[in-house]
Parts: sequence; C-alpha cells; structure tokens
Amino acid sequence: MDSLLKEAAALVREAQRVLVFTGAGLSTESGIPDFRSPGGVWDKYDPSDFYFDRFLSDEKAREKYWQMSTEFYRTMKDAQPNRAHIAIRELEDMGKLLAVVTQNIDALHQKAGNSPEKIIEIHGTAFSVSCLSCGKKYDRDLIEERLKSGVKVPYCDDCGGILKPDTVSFGQAMPQDKMEQAFRYARECDLCMALGSSLVVYPAASIPIHASDSGAKLIIINRDKTPLDDRAALVINFSAGKALGTIIDMLRSSGNN
Ligand code: NAD
Repeated sequence: MDSLLKEAAALVREAQRVLVFTGAGLSTESGIPDFRSPGGVWDKYDPSDFYFDRFLSDEKAREKYWQMSTEFYRTMKDAQPNRAHIAIRELEDMGKLLAVVTQNIDALHQKAGNSPEKIIEIHGTAFSVSCLSCGKKYDRDLIEERLKSGVKVPYCDDCGGILKPDTVSFGQAMPQDKMEQAFRYARECDLCMALGSSLVVYPAASIPIHASDSGAKLIIINRDKTPLDDRAALVINFSAGKALGTIIDMLRSSGNN
C-alpha cells in the first residue's frame, strides 16, 4: 500500500490542475451510509420506490420518499468532514485544485472549507427544498419542522405545488449548467481523482471518463473495484480518508507541493 500511495503523491505533485470527483464512499467515514455497500441505503429501501415519475404522480410514493429522505437528512445534518474532505481542502490550499465535482448531497465539501465556486454538486443538495411548480425555495430545516409536527407530505405555501428536496432523483433531469461546467473541467484538468465512488451511476461517471479521454491521468481511490479501473494510472482499494490523508502528508513532508 505504501508504494501505491507514494506513486499517487508523485502524480499529485506533478499535476497542476486536479479535478476531484467524489461519491458517497467519501462520506461513510463521517457516518453517512453509501447506497451500495452492505448496510447501505439500498439494503433498507427499494430504489424503484423513488423514481421521479412516481414522486410526481403518487401521494403515497411522496410520503415514502419523505420518510426515507428525512431519515437520511438527519444523518447528514450534523455530520462533520473527515480526513478525506480535509485533504481535498488542503489540495485547494496548495493551489492544485481545479474543482470538486461531487455526487454527494451532504455539503461536507463546503463544511471542510473548499471555496463554494470550486464545488459542483451535480446531484444537488439535501439542504434546500423547492416547489416543483413555482420554484419557491425553502430551507430544509423549515420543512423538517413541519414533518416533525406531523405533516406527511409538505406542499408549497404560495401555490400548493409539490415540494421536493433539491436533489436529483432517478429519472429526473440533471442540472444542465452544472454538467456542462463539470465536462469543461474534465477537459481542462491534467489529473482526475475519482474518490469513494462505485462509478456505476450515469451520467455522473462519464465525467472521469471524459477527463481520461481528454488526456488527464486518472487515480481511483475506492474500497471496491470499479468498472473504470482499467483506465486508471493508479487504483487504490483502501479507505479514502486514510489514503488521501497519507498522500497529502507525503506531499507536505517532501515540501514540494
Ligand atoms: P455508491 O454507494 O454507488 O458507491 C460508494 C462506493 O464507495 C462503493 O463502491 C464503496 O466501495 C466505496 N466506499 C465506501 N466507503 C468507503 C471508504 N471509507 N473509503 C473508500 N471507499 C469507500 O455511491 P456513489 O458512487 O456516490 O453513487 C450513488 C449515488 O448515491 C449518488 O448519486 C449520490 O448522489 C448518492 N449518495 C450520496 C450520499 C452523500 O451525499 N453522502 C450518500 C449516499 C448516496
């Protein structure tokens, strides 16, 4: 493991524009379960219950969605960044970070101190809610209070429209401006680090593919194998927090960042 981490540190040292691509595995060490690992969210819920068209068409589906989403939000609300998030902030401090493109909705990159303009949340955020009819925005905690008081499915105060957290559900359109920006960064980076992601969720996984097609080196750090491992200059099957923390420590101790 040590020699792999040294190789990774050497690639980061050489790089000038690092695109970091993160998934749910980055936040498991902060106590937020991922979707696909044993004990993850899909062990407990059936993903097909949460398709966007069902959310739109079926009051019962909305009720189920809010139950799952609220339980998940409560684990996220007070979670704190772990060593991996801090290491990514340190990459920014070193002047190497082009951007963080994240599939996560937990705001931990913001809490770790990365600049907001460097964070692209392609699957949205769990911390706000919008009306799907008039677009009115609500703070998530306000909606939380309503749910705690017994409301099962919240609706818009202004127009009575359906409210939904600002996250992208299965079957819901991706935010086009954010995807375009993410693909631009994929073309501009010289190193892409895919961290804590199964790399099976599309179109998100096409971002590291686009980076590697555009000539960037790819480092994958993930506990399990991924379908993109063959493309990578380096694959590290290890804890994201420990691996990234060690890589940053190596860069610092060499004094050459
Ligand atoms: P995923 O659940 O498909 O895969 C997570 C991967 O992380 C797995 O391959 C697992 O081996 C790995 N992993 C888990 N803990 C790890 C650790 N400590 N160190 C290294 N690797 C670790 O997640 P995904 O690829 O992000 O895609 C699924 C979807 O899940 C995304 O759309 C995302 O929006 C959503 N999601 C987000 C959160 C969050 O915001 N924290 C949590 C769960 C799911």
